Amino acid sequence: MSLSEAGENTQDGASGARRKRRFDDVLSVVRALQPGYPVYCLRPKLLTRTAKRFISMFPGTVLYAVKCNPHPAVLDAVYQGGVRHFDTASLPEIAQICDTYPDAHAYFMHPVKARAAIRMTYKAYGIRHFVVDHEDELNKVLEEAGGNDIVVMVRLKTEDTGDSLYDLASKFGAEPAEAAALLRAAAAKGCRTGLAFHIGSQCREPKVYRRALALCSDIIARAGVDIDSLDVGGGFPAYYTNAVVPPLEDYMTEIRGGLNDMGLKPTVEIFSEPGRALVAAGCSLLTQVQLRKGDRLYINDGIYGSLSEMTQVDIRMPVRLIRLKGETSQNLRSFTLNGPTCDSLDVLPGTFDLPEDVREGDWIEIDQLGAYSNALATHFNGFYPETFVEVHDAPPADMS
Ligand SMILES: *Cc1c(COP(=O)(O)O)cnc(C)c1O
Repeated sequence: MSLSEAGENTQDGASGARRKRRFDDVLSVVRALQPGYPVYCLRPKLLTRTAKRFISMFPGTVLYAVKCNPHPAVLDAVYQGGVRHFDTASLPEIAQICDTYPDAHAYFMHPVKARAAIRMTYKAYGIRHFVVDHEDELNKVLEEAGGNDIVVMVRLKTEDTGDSLYDLASKFGAEPAEAAALLRAAAAKGCRTGLAFHIGSQCREPKVYRRALALCSDIIARAGVDIDSLDVGGGFPAYYTNAVVPPLEDYMTEIRGGLNDMGLKPTVEIFSEPGRALVAAGCSLLTQVQLRKGDRLYINDGIYGSLSEMTQVDIRMPVRLIRLKGETSQNLRSFTLNGPTCDSLDVLPGTFDLPEDVREGDWIEIDQLGAYSNALATHFNGFYPETFVEVHDAPPADMS
């Protein structure tokens, strides 16, 4: 691909000058690059605005969940929005955050950690918050993190209400009695303590947070320990065409209500760990049609690239057709989108409505693709989406 200077600019992120091609809008990207490869169109201003808004609404400290989209430009944009705290799960994630943003704080929120990672992050990066959901992991953290100047965050199993698209309680989380015992054990070692939960990604029911907070109250009472931190996790939803979700305000209302009911001391730190809700809207993906067979379109990204999340859960993104020369039909028709690899599984679930005369060479912009997209892409079959540009228009589905 040609790295022409057209549209190129220099952006000063918090991580220093980083050259990134900048365009007014997605149409300008198509005109300038006419890309035969997939292109992520980042909207840094939207990412920054979304982060600011979330921070202004949440009654506590907002940790961006790095795994959702760790691209440096995405991190820069949420940092510009005021995010200084990051939910991280591995030594590389912690190193990326701490080396890039000297004034940022990372939190080690994975319930199963390598010993060396605990040791390194405690010593070299000053990490003090560690999540555990099992006695053996608590002992591991106590042994490797050395001092008792740490905050042991006990991850709870919350009920699977079916309101979230993922049940994150199936893999991690202590049962209430276990959680209470872990709090007591950590407090007995002189550590500060906390509770954490994750009600599952893309949660459609704000009341779930309030119920989880009530469970926290029970556990605190059972443990007889004063906690120092409380983390309500992620799960805040993004907009997809098949999911009408309540406004963010409703989630905050339930969380505020739940926190009031708990009657915590004002010194208790409150955290949230949004991923999807901060970044989904901030990036779209420009793909190109490489062949049409009837109502099947073969495009240049798929389930092994940017679109794997669609195969795990039922989310549907808005799409629009872009053609450089000539008009497209006003009549819509349903098409299946086939990915670029030779694997016959590489087909997106469901159908997408596009102008009926879509043809080879047209581009399809797939919106709302800032979350769990590039973060999950593989190199399978030699295809790897890796081109990022910045655009400064409003996306088709600007929900902020
Ligand atoms: C993935 C994850 C998040 C982010 O979840 P979203 O649903 O994207 O907000 C937050 N916390 C933990 C512990 C996670 O594993």
